[in-house]
Amino acid sequence: MGDIRAEIAALRKERDAVILAHTYQPGAVQDCADYVGDSYGLSVEASRTAASVIIFCGVRFMAETAAILNPSRTVILPEPLAGCPMADMITAVELAELKARHPGHLVMCYVNSTAEIKALSDVCCTSSNAEKIARKLPADRSIIFVPDRHLGSWVQERTGRDMVLWDGFCPTHLRIEPGMIIVARKEHPGAEVLIHPEATHECRVLADAVLSTGGMCSHAAASDTTEFIIATETGLLHPLRKNNPGKRFFAVSEEVVCPNMKRVTLPSIRNALMGTGGRAVTIDRETAAKALRSLERMLALGG
Ligand code: SF4
Repeated sequence: MGDIRAEIAALRKERDAVILAHTYQPGAVQDCADYVGDSYGLSVEASRTAASVIIFCGVRFMAETAAILNPSRTVILPEPLAGCPMADMITAVELAELKARHPGHLVMCYVNSTAEIKALSDVCCTSSNAEKIARKLPADRSIIFVPDRHLGSWVQERTGRDMVLWDGFCPTHLRIEPGMIIVARKEHPGAEVLIHPEATHECRVLADAVLSTGGMCSHAAASDTTEFIIATETGLLHPLRKNNPGKRFFAVSEEVVCPNMKRVTLPSIRNALMGTGGRAVTIDRETAAKALRSLERMLALGG
């Protein structure tokens, strides 16, 4: 393992590359990255980096977002098959039809979406800025929210905005069930339950706080509480434990694992850097230009 880390470090220098990793990635991948963060942080980092090559350890929509935000860089997804089922739950044709049925509505799309969906939207959001952005959109306009009905319903509850929700969902967060939270609380009385807004309403109401992954990291660091039950993808336990050595973190269930997020390995990062593996992400110019407008609005409204 030591050798492959040294190889990656040398190749990264040689190719003038930066390695970005989402907090749901395997711990070893997070540990070899230059920057680890949630979708919002990764978007900002990708838009700013001066490196020639971005190795994106995450799923396809994240690498696409990086390529749209920083088109002069080469963005490589080390595992080309790492997709997001939620992002694929709405097509451009379906969104165009939805817009036609609701003329006058603004379209807000979760960043967990394809470039084509972003291109057809007015503004993007992540789970960390969705509420803030919804509050800033003109009050006299209703909102179409795609693709995640759970994040959409959470934003609706928080803001009281009139919203049409697409019926998409994250299969990983749907593994979280109310009974798991009840059992975890019994096992760890006194622990704070932090849940992601992609979980169902029935689960969210049982938690102490509904937070994005970035929000969970800052909340846990600032809180006086020393024990936390984490109701999101288990990869987040790695940075939480690493950055808060005096605190204890428990997964609400070890089954909350996203198989796509776990595809990237150290050998696949090395192969991507060597040019023997991975795939450079390309998006047609017109789609990229339209999607960029939605992403830039997100960065302007949600920063
Ligand atoms: S955790 Fe859910 S939303 Fe995130 S990549 Fe996996 S399936 Fe998609």
